[in-house]
Amino acid sequence: MENVTILGSTGSIGLSTLDVLAREPGRFQIYALTANTGVAEMFAQIEAVRPRFAVLRDAAAARELADKVKHAGFEETRVLAGERSLCDVASASEVDVVMAAIVGAAGLEPTLAAVNAGKKVLLANKEALVMAGRLFMEAVEKANAVLLPIDSEHNAIFQCLDDGSRRDLPAQGVRRILLTGSGGPFREVPTEALAGVTPDQACAHPNWSMGRKISVDSATMMNKGLELIEACWLFDTPPESIDVVIHPQSIIHSMVEYVDGSVLAQLGNPDMRTPIAHALAWPERIPSGVGSLDLITQGRLDFQAPDEDKFPCLRLAREAVTRGGTAAAVLNAANEVAVAAFLDGKLAFTAIPEIIERVMSIVAVVEPISLDDVKVADQQGRAAAEAELQALLPC
Ligand code: NAD
Ligand code: MG
Repeated sequence: MENVTILGSTGSIGLSTLDVLAREPGRFQIYALTANTGVAEMFAQIEAVRPRFAVLRDAAAARELADKVKHAGFEETRVLAGERSLCDVASASEVDVVMAAIVGAAGLEPTLAAVNAGKKVLLANKEALVMAGRLFMEAVEKANAVLLPIDSEHNAIFQCLDDGSRRDLPAQGVRRILLTGSGGPFREVPTEALAGVTPDQACAHPNWSMGRKISVDSATMMNKGLELIEACWLFDTPPESIDVVIHPQSIIHSMVEYVDGSVLAQLGNPDMRTPIAHALAWPERIPSGVGSLDLITQGRLDFQAPDEDKFPCLRLAREAVTRGGTAAAVLNAANEVAVAAFLDGKLAFTAIPEIIERVMSIVAVVEPISLDDVKVADQQGRAAAEAELQALLPC
């Protein structure tokens, strides 16, 4: 039996992971579940799977949950609180597999704790890798952790590589990576109409059901920008060798082109249980619950170039990864602040890239020596974005 910790178990990826795990009860058992504040959601999960540990980052929420668990008589589950506990259940010696599915920068330290403990780490939390890039990959090498991509595009690329290796792509004969993206819910909305779009419209993705932050990132195309940076680190590839291709149907999840002209693609219905099942069982295969792809009904697959004038976030992310150092951590921090403000109804959709661009021009970029340098860059990016936000808000 493999012991699994799910960081972010109450989120969209967390729920899909629990769904896949429930199909293989003889192979996996759940060691720990974690979330931010959701007492009711976490209680329901404890009731269903009885983990050894349930962690809520918020201390008051954890106390409330502990009371409920005690009253229900679920003695096998211990409730813990706080960020330290997130790292503890990610790195505990009993744990074999960690699903890193916390959203945003909050996932960096627990994910790195799993990496440093040499776990098999299933990486959904792309922001952690975007922020800490080189340091993150060095930690993977040093601890001999097994890093497997959950992001559907990166999982697809991984599946299209010859021997399941993420490194030495030129030696494998790879010429370029084709990173596909749906183009988001506003692909066909005229540029002039973007300033007036609402959070709910931004979160109504045509093909994928996801958490609200990544849904807004998909709508601005920052998600594709973060994924470009993620792909550079995961596959040790420069941004010039990665082309973004808009593919509105989200049936091809990405492609790899080889020097002989062969292009390999991974296809499937847009359902995150496929990459989750792939990574959980790798190098074997297990059922995921995802139905067969019906290409006849699908009928056609379309492709377009991305529009970086309409969606500047993709260009900003490309600039950040080209600049290197802490630039991507600053980009990510500014994006998180701007997206939260948009979701709160305080900021226009089109102001998201404006804030990020201004922050990128203000905050100094350094080559990070340690995680502390990354955290400082994150804080500086957040502070600069808050200041830009204040300047935009009516008094
Ligand atoms: P979500 O918002 O649905 O869930 C986020 C989870 O993180 C929840 O369990 C929440 O309780 C927890 N969390 C949030 N803030 C926290 C904090 N400060 N401390 C501790 N826990 C916290 O998000 P999601 O859509 O499941 O996405 C999770 C990650 O996976 C993101 O990084 C996203 O980019 C990535 N991802 C998601 C999808 C998808 O289809 N949803 C696809 C690819 C990659
Ligand atoms: Mg993706």
